[in-house]
Amino acid sequence: MTNRFDGSRDVQRAIDRLARRLPEPLEDLAWIAYNYLWTWVPGGKDLFRNIDAHRFLLSGENPVAFLTNLPERDLLQAATNGATLALLRDVSHQMESEMQRPVQRVLGAGPVAFFCAEFALHSSLPVYAGGLGVLAGDFLKEASDQALDVVGVGLLYRRGYLHQRMDLSGWQQEYWVEANTDQLPAVRVRGADGAPLKVIVPVWDGELTAQVWRVNVGRTPLYLLDAELAENDALERWVTSRLYEGSGEIRLAQYALLGIGGVRALDAMGIMPALFHLNEGHAALAALEIASRTSAEMTGERLALESLLEVGRERFIFTTHTPVPAGNETYDADEYFSVLGRALDELKLPREEVAGASRVIPSELSEPLGLSPLAIRSARSTNAVSLRHGEVAREMWLPLFPGSMPGEVPITHVTNGVHLPTWMAPNMRSLLGRHLDADWERHAHDPGFWSHVEEIPDAELWRVRCESRMDLVELVRRKATVDRLARGEDIEYVKAALDAFDPGHLTVGFARRLATYKRLDLLLRDPARLRAIIDQDQGTQFVIAGKAHPRDVEAKRVASGILALKRDLDVPNRVVFLEDYDLRVALRLVAGCDVWLNLPRPPLEASGTSGMKAAMNGGLNLSVLDGWWSEGYDGQNGWAIDGSVDADTQAQDIRDAGALYDLLENEVKPLFYTRDANGIPVGWLTRVRASLRTLGSKYSATRMVDDYVEGIYRSGR
Ligand SMILES: *Cc1c(COP(=O)(O)O)cnc(C)c1O
Repeated sequence: MTNRFDGSRDVQRAIDRLARRLPEPLEDLAWIAYNYLWTWVPGGKDLFRNIDAHRFLLSGENPVAFLTNLPERDLLQAATNGATLALLRDVSHQMESEMQRPVQRVLGAGPVAFFCAEFALHSSLPVYAGGLGVLAGDFLKEASDQALDVVGVGLLYRRGYLHQRMDLSGWQQEYWVEANTDQLPAVRVRGADGAPLKVIVPVWDGELTAQVWRVNVGRTPLYLLDAELAENDALERWVTSRLYEGSGEIRLAQYALLGIGGVRALDAMGIMPALFHLNEGHAALAALEIASRTSAEMTGERLALESLLEVGRERFIFTTHTPVPAGNETYDADEYFSVLGRALDELKLPREEVAGASRVIPSELSEPLGLSPLAIRSARSTNAVSLRHGEVAREMWLPLFPGSMPGEVPITHVTNGVHLPTWMAPNMRSLLGRHLDADWERHAHDPGFWSHVEEIPDAELWRVRCESRMDLVELVRRKATVDRLARGEDIEYVKAALDAFDPGHLTVGFARRLATYKRLDLLLRDPARLRAIIDQDQGTQFVIAGKAHPRDVEAKRVASGILALKRDLDVPNRVVFLEDYDLRVALRLVAGCDVWLNLPRPPLEASGTSGMKAAMNGGLNLSVLDGWWSEGYDGQNGWAIDGSVDADTQAQDIRDAGALYDLLENEVKPLFYTRDANGIPVGWLTRVRASLRTLGSKYSATRMVDDYVEGIYRSGR
């Protein structure tokens, strides 16, 4: 690498420091620990677990913390363990060859800078809340797999997103945990003078100073800005404390740091992006930073903001993830300028022009201000995240394009996808490796490779499904027991969790943010029918998880309704709510469920991705025809609930709940429990194969990143 101040030297120093702690045969563990590639290379997770599974878990599966704190005698012992050393050689070899592949330039001039308010790479780096972060994390990982020159830019939230604890009454309580940044696989970037690099962004009446951390995501660097510095006062430091703060002012300060600070940080490191990809509107202020430079470079008279944005537009791409106007945050002008005013003054951008560009209709002075309109105006391409979301977004943003018909609004779509090596359980991954092609992962977007799933024998496919379900049952038992103990539940109810679930029973999952529009409550509409579905010999068990936004009382009520099922005698072992849903449990959940539910109120699901993850593991989707499922469902590869929009939401909820019960009773259960002489559900597996074959290639991040690179980055559109 030609650039010496992009933090790569600093990471190398940290690696050297950690390596000195390790016995010589284990030295390679140090660089592996500082690169999240270990999380998706085959064998990577086993490497640390094999040394000391319990301590690794206690470290939050953070290999830097794990190796830093592991007693010397344990290190010495691991250094003489032949199996550990062989695995280390194997993982290290795979990772090295990944790192040495020649770079694929996306565009000649410089990298693509991918800006996002959250990144979900692994549970040890708690800078994510949910789906948006997972998408951004998967994007960086896939960019690495394709050796693309991409860099990520985000914020290092020291207290991350909320943790969830249910109390005895079933009500969600929130708490936050502060990360120990000294032991994260993240390294402070230093400048040419050897001192930590600092960027300054005017916020409120002062100046917010931030340092920059580098995280290696395979070949892709991720830069995270952090305001926890002596230069900042207590309020300013809080800016990078938590994700999606309740206060609009704090959020605006975060977005100023992300957008303006992010561009300045890249600049300070000598990184000159050819393209800025704004993943959701939060980073839109980056465009103002670039616009003001355009202004500075031009001699003579000052250009209007509109013209400045026009000049910068070539370098901006915007992806919108929010299909409801309310999901696109807006602010009063007073609030907006009390946080951002000083920055705009410094950028020499008149407030009224920025206000206009932040409204859907610039001249509508009473309209609140938002970053999504600004992002749309700043980018040469705006895209939604599924075919249907594209239609919804064109309709929704129509007023921003006066004189256009909905079909003419320049918003396209790239349907989301998921990173297969992250989201496919190892057993399924090796099954496909045996039957598709040893090299199939490099061709994950090619339907031809996936057609070979039709050749997988029933017994092998069923074995993998049963293993994954068993693994989930073990997780449910262990976690439900601890959750119940921690809530202070009656001991009999606690003990019931120890043998909750039956490893042979139909297992249905629902796990995601508990926003009201996701309609988890449909499941509870008709308790008698639900009980009948659960109760019979050929039973059904439900695993449910998800966090409600702290202020979303309605969503908290739904969660407490699930927990209240404990009063039903037969149910405690068949419906389990797992607390504090996040990446730690997500893979085992999506892999272990036979059926994955998604019940959004159409058209409010932009895409959804957890159903894609379930499909990659041989689970079947039962979902409303909204978001990705409205294009993924083909009649054979899962089940669908009508996705049309009804203004009478009450009537729609009743109808959709009925459709859900009907499908579970009349189609899902009979198919699952119809077995051949060997106990194998042949019809079920036919559907599983159809799901893998039709969804595997289309909803991989490989296809998604291809679409971005070819369809948007390089298209010049
Ligand atoms: C995939 C994922 C999500 C997104 O789920 P949706 O289906 O898009 O609602 C949220 N949280 C976690 C932890 C995930 O892994």
